[in-house]
Amino acid sequence: MVSNNVVIGLEIHTQITSLKTKLFCSCPSDYRGKPPNTNVCPTCLGLPGALPVVNVNAIKAAIMVALALRCSISDLLVFTRKHYFYPDLPKNYQISQYDGIGSMPIAKNGYVILNIDGNIKKIRIRRINIEEDPGRLIYPTGSLLTSKYTLIDYNRSGIALLEIVTEPDISTPKEAKVFIDKIRSILEHLGITDPNLEGSIRVDANISLAGGSRVEVKNISSPKDVERALAYEIIRQSKMLGSGEVVRRETRHWDSVRKVTVPLRAKELEEDYRYFPDPDLPPIKITKELIMDIASKLPELPDQRIERFVRSYGISEYLANVLVLEKSLADYFEECVGICGNPELVGNIVVNDLKRWIDELNLEVIEAKKLLPANQLCKLIQLLINNSINIKILKEVLPKALRSGKDVISIIYEEGYMDISDEKMLMKIVEEVFKENQQAVKDALDNPKAINYLVGQVMKKTKGRANPSITNKLITMKLAEIRGTPKNDR
Ligand code: ZN
Ligand code: MN
Repeated sequence: MVSNNVVIGLEIHTQITSLKTKLFCSCPSDYRGKPPNTNVCPTCLGLPGALPVVNVNAIKAAIMVALALRCSISDLLVFTRKHYFYPDLPKNYQISQYDGIGSMPIAKNGYVILNIDGNIKKIRIRRINIEEDPGRLIYPTGSLLTSKYTLIDYNRSGIALLEIVTEPDISTPKEAKVFIDKIRSILEHLGITDPNLEGSIRVDANISLAGGSRVEVKNISSPKDVERALAYEIIRQSKMLGSGEVVRRETRHWDSVRKVTVPLRAKELEEDYRYFPDPDLPPIKITKELIMDIASKLPELPDQRIERFVRSYGISEYLANVLVLEKSLADYFEECVGICGNPELVGNIVVNDLKRWIDELNLEVIEAKKLLPANQLCKLIQLLINNSINIKILKEVLPKALRSGKDVISIIYEEGYMDISDEKMLMKIVEEVFKENQQAVKDALDNPKAINYLVGQVMKKTKGRANPSITNKLITMKLAEIRGTPKNDR
């Protein structure tokens, strides 16, 4: 596969989940899990006469993202109507923004720097729009393509979205995934989007191969699926081009169950949308002061955090990168280091072992934190540092703790992981073994090699958990004690 033939651009729709209300009305923004069509009002249902009022916090959130993505910010906020007919859009137009005469998006011309396995790549951001989310279509008897009928739930209608559009600077499916991961991390660090909420980040991917037209794959929900859908399209389109077929401009749908893309419709042209400034929403001035104020309060961003991790914890850039990719994972790491120090060791365990099990068990980091709080992981790390357990045991205890939420010390004792190195406890067992094996004790008094049999008996009694060197020491002490005793008293 020749990757320099491939041109990919992405359009990311991210909900501003930090808002309490929708973009143009006072309906609550937490629509998830509510009975259908109960989280609505005349405005977000598009009823005649209802007027939109813009949520100022959505503008502030958009400016934060624009600053983080190094965009230039417009001094005027203009909303535009984007017309199309679709059942999830009750007004028959979406209030959005448009880059055209008399109109502009809130921000444009930014960039993001990616680190792809050590290679640096710059992806330009074409623009950022504020717009409203449509309602949600539900397919009760199958999928979009197979269901006999469709239901509509307007609870989501009017939720504030940011549309982040890249230039076609992406050349491989992997780069697309790394880019989305980075955007997710930036949004999470800004506190704007909770990427773990179902449907909070949705991606449309545009891809074309040399000799073919641009194909858009709509509404992909996970970074991994974006990578898969693009890889699928590269194979599909290069096969077509290879056999002389024409790759036409179209919109496709990613079927995440069958892992294929399927045709949806021929792509609309921009003219079809009949964009025009929304007369219900007069332009709003965005002042330099507002932008400066937001810029001065911007939280630490992923790139700065990676740099700080390397500088102040002395961990590798690789570890820092993986940790910061997920804010919650980086937070967990810092919490652990605050308790038990050893950043390199903690970082390695969090990235290589804990994260692996979190993925394997299909958990979110937030859930994993409840099952294995930072102080619990630190207990394990402390035992490892004291040589009370080895790394192999630590690796075995992790998934058990994540599955059960049990205290790690209980797991270690119940599962018989811990070496018995408590001398009093071991001495009791040594004395039992001496009583039960008097002939062997006599042998060992004359022949030092026979001591191994006694050590073996202690191991048998403790199911192999006795610390071997302490056991040896105690048996030798005990034998010396017997030797020092007059024969008659033995
Ligand atoms: Zn509403
Ligand atoms: Mn959009």
